[in-house]
Amino acid sequence: MTLEVSRAARTHLDRARSLVAASNIDALLILKTENRRYATGFTGSAGLALVTRTEELLAVDFRYEEQAAAEAPGCTLLRGGRDPLGALAAALAGRGISRIGFEAEFVPFAQVARLREKLGPADLVPLSDVDRLRWVKDPAEVAAISRAVEIADAAYERVLGVLRPGLSERDAAVELETFMRRGGADRVAFDSVLASGPRSALPHGRPTDRIIGPGDLVTLDFGAMWGGYCSDCTRTVVLGSADEQQRRVYGVVLDAQRWALEMIRAGVPCRDVDARARAVIADAGYGAAFGHSLGHGVGLEVHEGPRLAPQEEAVLEPGMVLTVEPGIYLPGWGGVRIEDTVVVTEDGCRILTRAPKEFRVLPV
Ligand code: ZN
Ligand code: ZN
Repeated sequence: MTLEVSRAARTHLDRARSLVAASNIDALLILKTENRRYATGFTGSAGLALVTRTEELLAVDFRYEEQAAAEAPGCTLLRGGRDPLGALAAALAGRGISRIGFEAEFVPFAQVARLREKLGPADLVPLSDVDRLRWVKDPAEVAAISRAVEIADAAYERVLGVLRPGLSERDAAVELETFMRRGGADRVAFDSVLASGPRSALPHGRPTDRIIGPGDLVTLDFGAMWGGYCSDCTRTVVLGSADEQQRRVYGVVLDAQRWALEMIRAGVPCRDVDARARAVIADAGYGAAFGHSLGHGVGLEVHEGPRLAPQEEAVLEPGMVLTVEPGIYLPGWGGVRIEDTVVVTEDGCRILTRAPKEFRVLPV
C-alpha cells in the first residue's frame, strides 16, 4: 500500500497523524532515526516513537532520557531504563490501540517478531513508504539544506585552490572534507567520491592513493550535513589542459542537466524529468553511458524519495528538494557528472547549489 500524506498537514506531527488516519491503524510506530527525529524532534540514535491519533509517545533507554526530555517536549516521555520496549508495552494498556503500523522497509524481520511478542495483543501492520512523510520540506528544512549547500559550495571553492598534479585522490578528499568541517558542517553527509583520470568512470569511485596527473578529469561528489540536513553536489574539473572529448562530453552532460532543470515544476511526473535528461544524452550518442537515475530527494537522509528515475511514479510537489545529476561514464577513459540540489516550486525550481558549473580547467 502506498500512502498519501494530506496536503493540509502543517507540522511534521500533523503529517504523521494524517498517515495514521489514512492507513486504518490506531498508531504509527517509528523506529528509523530520521523518521523519529522528523516526527518528534528527538535526535538520538535509538528509541521508539508512537504517534496515535491524540498523543505522541517516546520511549527511550537510560542514555537518552534527559536528551529526549529536552528535545521532544511535546511527547509523552517514557523513561525506559534498560527496556524501552517494555515501557512502551506497559503504556499501551488502556489506550485502546489495537492496530500499530510499522516501517515495513526498515524494521528487520527478527525485530518484527520481538515487537509482536511484546506489543501483542495489538496487531503489528507493515506500512510501506513511511519515509514519504518527509518528501515535502517546510521552509525551516529548506533553510537547513541551503546552509548545508553553502558550506559545501565554499569547501569546493577552497579545494580547487589546492587540487594540483601530484596530490593523491585521498589527500584531496581529506582537504575537501576538512574544509566542510571547518566551514561549520556537523559532519560530512556521506563519504566523498573523488575519482581522477580513468577512475572518474566509476560513478561512486572512492578516493584512493592514485596520484592526480595533468590532463586528468577529476570528479568530486560531496555533501555537508548541517542541523541534521544534507547537501549533495558533484562537480567535474580538468587539471592543466583539456582535450576535445572532455569538452564534448562535459557539454552534453551540462546540456542534459539544463534541460532537466528547465522541466522541473509542481505537477510534473518525476520520470518525465529523468526521461528528458536521458534523451539529451542518448541523442548525443552516449545513451549506454548513463546507467543511473537522474536524481533523488535530499533531506535528513542524503538519498531519500522521490527519485528522478524511469520507474518513479510520483509527481513533483512544491517543497520537494531533489538532486539533478546526469552523468556519462566511459570505461577506460573517464566520466563526467554534474549535480545540483534544487527546491521544487509551483512554476519551476530554485537551484540551491551555487558552485560554478561551466567547464573548468584548473591551472597547474
Ligand atoms: Zn552526490
Ligand atoms: Zn546525489
